[in-house]
Amino acid sequence: MTLDKFKKEDCFFCKNNGGKTIFKNRYCRTIIPDDGPFQMHRVVWNSHVREFGELNNFEAEMLFTAIKKLEKYLYEKLTPDKINIISMGNITPHLHIHVVPRWKTDPWWPNFTWNTLPRLTWRRSAFENKIHIAVTSWNKGRTLLQPIREEVFIKEQNIPKKKEWDEFDPISRHVLIKVGQKIVGTGRLNPRGRLGRICVLKTFRKRGLGNYILQALVSEAKKLNYEKIYLHSQKHAVSFYQKKGFQLQGKSFIECKSTHFKMFRSLDLYI
Ligand SMILES: [Zn+2]
Ligand SMILES: [Zn+2]
Repeated sequence: MTLDKFKKEDCFFCKNNGGKTIFKNRYCRTIIPDDGPFQMHRVVWNSHVREFGELNNFEAEMLFTAIKKLEKYLYEKLTPDKINIISMGNITPHLHIHVVPRWKTDPWWPNFTWNTLPRLTWRRSAFENKIHIAVTSWNKGRTLLQPIREEVFIKEQNIPKKKEWDEFDPISRHVLIKVGQKIVGTGRLNPRGRLGRICVLKTFRKRGLGNYILQALVSEAKKLNYEKIYLHSQKHAVSFYQKKGFQLQGKSFIECKSTHFKMFRSLDLYI
């Protein structure tokens, strides 16, 4: 089958809606597909048109109005750092536009979401030979970090599963640490600049591994040009974070049944 012979009868978007409908009118529909990168949406022109240039001016305006509406909706719902708008259709040449919310911490940033993700690579700690650290995406790191968080947060601290695995995981940067061949700790930087889910397996505590995780998260945040990062610290850890340049912000509050403090650190003050 050649492209110019691409017929309605063989066309995915003529035969299927293509996903869950968000908005629609008689000209086009806005959908979120079941597959694809996190929160990628599509605006699909309803009739079997191949190129944008085949639309008349009114139709073109209808398509752009739908894209603008979707962009606004995504900014309000997901507060992304950027939105990518792409038209390809090389495989399915039926006019449709991909609208993809992006975060500085998402797995592909700053590349496009169809790029192959970088491999998970370990680097040796500058301080201890046996310790290796990796900064990675949810896609590449989840099977390695999930057992650690399961052990520490769900089993040890009784955090409900639903709370532990949240909507930020797929769009956060994750740090892993291993001693010898054993992965023993993790932590994440979420798109809002919040450090969290920092944990080390019980038998590997009190040897400074949490500090290595923190350092890796801070340098990742600097690399991504965050001006400010923050975290919620338990009471006993406040002085630790103060030594690392974090300052208390506001009053204490209860989170997961224990007293926490919001602490922040400006990154432009430090080299
Ligand atoms: Zn079609
Ligand atoms: Zn496409």
